[in-house]
Amino acid sequence: MITGKNYIGDTLSSNSSETFQTFNPKLNIENTNTFFEASDLEIEKSVKLANQAFKKFKIISSIKKAKFLDQIANELQLISNEIVNIYCSETGFTEARCLAELSRTMNQLKSFSKLLIEGDFQEVSIDTSISDRLPIPKPDLRKMLTPIGPIVVFGASNFPLAYSTAGGDTASALAAGCPVILKSHPMHAGTGELVSAAIIQAARKTNMPNGVFSNLNSKGIEVGVKLVNNPQVKAVGFTGSLKGGRAIYDLASKRENPIPVFAEMGSVNPVIIFPKKLQNEYTKLAEIYSKSITIGSGQFCTNPGIIISFESVSFDLFMNKLVEEIEKLSPSCMLHPNICNAYYKGLEKIKKNKDVKILTRKQIKKKVNFPNHVISTVNAKNFINDKNLQDEIFGPCSLIVKCQDQNEMFQVIESIGGQLTATILAEDNEELLNNKIINALELKVGRIIFNGVPTGVEVCPSMTHGGPYPASTDSRFSAVGTNSIKRWLRPVSYQDFPQNLLPDELKDDNPLMITRKIDGVISKNKI
Ligand code: NAP
Repeated sequence: MITGKNYIGDTLSSNSSETFQTFNPKLNIENTNTFFEASDLEIEKSVKLANQAFKKFKIISSIKKAKFLDQIANELQLISNEIVNIYCSETGFTEARCLAELSRTMNQLKSFSKLLIEGDFQEVSIDTSISDRLPIPKPDLRKMLTPIGPIVVFGASNFPLAYSTAGGDTASALAAGCPVILKSHPMHAGTGELVSAAIIQAARKTNMPNGVFSNLNSKGIEVGVKLVNNPQVKAVGFTGSLKGGRAIYDLASKRENPIPVFAEMGSVNPVIIFPKKLQNEYTKLAEIYSKSITIGSGQFCTNPGIIISFESVSFDLFMNKLVEEIEKLSPSCMLHPNICNAYYKGLEKIKKNKDVKILTRKQIKKKVNFPNHVISTVNAKNFINDKNLQDEIFGPCSLIVKCQDQNEMFQVIESIGGQLTATILAEDNEELLNNKIINALELKVGRIIFNGVPTGVEVCPSMTHGGPYPASTDSRFSAVGTNSIKRWLRPVSYQDFPQNLLPDELKDDNPLMITRKIDGVISKNKI
């Protein structure tokens, strides 16, 4: 049952008079549940509880933390029907999409549980002493990664489950040993409350300290601002717009004690098509890309927003076919009227450039919040000169950039900002595809795809979901996959410590049987 209240640790609470409702974009009406925004007192209490919980949670064994994460997945499974109902009413997404996202969310939790059981994520390194080294003895140094403290996670509008309440940021932070204060996304506060209830239930059943998780509602930016400014908060995870992510990053860096913000923001995910591939497969590529551009009404951070190739007959055929295919697909519902309006505004902005030509013509009779798919085109010179054309337009559209030659394509790549992904569509023997282009792309992105689509982010240790600014605020880290745990850990070295005062991970007899690097050699051996 939805109460509309905040979870301050394991207690439901509502002491603010500020309330709001979520919105059903398919029906274009407000949903009936009333949500209470978190008050200053509730914000303060949730952070205080998280800080108290941190001291206990960080020393709870990895095995027990793994049970907690598994239990969250189990609790989510138990309430999956309830989640589907509220999720669909708050997003306009289908039941199938909800179930797929729920399954991904549970698998993410389980992958972190597995990581904890394997026990190798703390990067233990031990350099034993050499007492007779000249001119001075070498000390005994032992290093491991430790959790940094309470984390604020901002839920994402476009993934109410996988990148929100129990999503990747929360799962990785809890796995690291960091309590989480969730700033629930106002567009799906009901889904957030149900998922929070599952987390709280799992925490109770596995005896986790109260305050290991809190869920705060908000209807504006104030709750998030206060959380980021709270001195006891030690880092922030964010998924959303460049504007929002940058504002939070700036806030965090102006604090008296600045903290890291791991924000995953806008990306246009360039796709580069090489001539032989285009000639051989333009029909197939158009079919595949019409789906990739419009899936989820284009509300994916990896949506292919820019398609680049060389002027040619095949490229024209591809464009015509892409327009034909995309016009065959019915518009789908966007998450919220605000997101739909932001999509229209983004299109208006690129239309201001007189050299941008809109290729899609069919205007399907508009149902509110179901926008038309749009394909536009511009030549490379104009694209390079107008930075507005590089901004992410969150929705079902793509801009096709025509280059005259390889040099111009190189200039286009050089001109774009940091991206989550780039995609190369090519045959094995393309003359125009060389290391210069690959190296230029590598400097810009977190993931390069060969002959595929950027939409679809596999959850596994080798995934990089991040990239140079503005795709993210710290390109050294991934927001997806078990390596994302590294965002919430910091190294601590112990020098010349007695065995009884060392953490178990660093003791000579390796009681946790984890893999360690001992004097440069990786093993599970005792010392
Ligand atoms: P958003 O505007 O960036 O908001 C995300 C979260 O950050 C919300 O909870 C919002 O709080 C908070 N926030 C925004 N500005 C803030 C500020 N100055 N200070 C403190 N908190 C702030 O994103 P959104 O609402 O999810 O969607 C809007 C647009 O973001 C979309 O149209 C799209 O362009 C983009 N987006 C991109 C991605 C991506 O993966 N690249 C994903 C989702 C959305 P409140 O809602 O409480 O105000």
